Amino acid sequence: MTDSSSLPASARAVVVGAGIVGNSLVYHLARLGWRDLVLIDKGPLPNPGGSTGHASNFIFPVDHSKEMTQLTADSVRQYKEWEVFTESGGIEVARTEERMQELQRRMSSAKAWGIEGCEIITPARVKELVPFIEESVIVGGFYTPGVGIVDSLRFGTIAREQAQKLGALQDLLAGAGHVVDPKAVVEGLLDDVVLGPDGLPAADAAGSELLAHPAMVATVGRLVRSVDRLLP
Ligand SMILES: Cc1cc2nc3c(=O)[nH]c(=O)nc-3n(C[C@H](O)[C@H](O)[C@H](O)COP(=O)(O)OP(=O)(O)OC[C@H]3O[C@@H](n4cnc5c(N)ncnc54)[C@H](O)[C@@H]3O)c2cc1C
Repeated sequence: MTDSSSLPASARAVVVGAGIVGNSLVYHLARLGWRDLVLIDKGPLPNPGGSTGHASNFIFPVDHSKEMTQLTADSVRQYKEWEVFTESGGIEVARTEERMQELQRRMSSAKAWGIEGCEIITPARVKELVPFIEESVIVGGFYTPGVGIVDSLRFGTIAREQAQKLGALQDLLAGAGHVVDPKAVVEGLLDDVVLGPDGLPAADAAGSELLAHPAMVATVGRLVRSVDRLLP
């Protein structure tokens, strides 16, 4: 558990987890004018050991959901601005007719959401673009020019630096000794968060606007749903 003596006396929001989601959240809260933010991770920075540091970091821009496609486009815009994105183009290949049908549907989604330059390509064209592939085992491919790779750890570092520059990050607690027991932190640091039945802060159960209160957001899985209450 985090040593309570290392915690600040108060905070506007405590973000638990300095993976890509927590770092991004701290930056966006700072950008939106939030101050007195605290970011905590049990692992050392810049790679605290969560999924972010293990990811292959590929970004595929086309999703069947319009909202996810828009979110991805906005993320890519941000990654490009911070020079952590390498655009390579990418191909998803199908080895069965059923899988090929799914790629055709992805092509329809690309057209519907205005993602340009996507193509359904033949095995021969896949071979041209990726010479080491054995084209006899594939039925076709879905090519997207905007596919790329993001340096997600570098992104996290820049996001934290930006929040610090804005004077928004009052404390950055990371490394051994900073494993958060959400209930203990809420009791010690925040005074207006309702706990859910599992002992974790439950903004929804509070039935009130999270924005009006000190907030704790765990970006470590199940509490990530609270984020939509924080950002407009
Ligand atoms: C092998 C692999 C490949 C992947 N490839 C891709 C890919 O190509 N493209 C893609 O888009 N996604 C990919 N992903 C998924 C992507 O990595 C995750 O969706 C993303 O990193 C999740 O970010 P996060 O910030 O939510 O979680 P995390 O990065 O896991 O961050 C959570 C943080 O919380 C900290 N933490 C947890 N519990 C506590 C606690 N009690 N107290 C304090 N700190 C705590 C952890 O130390 C961790 O740093 C991949 C994932 C893996 C594992």
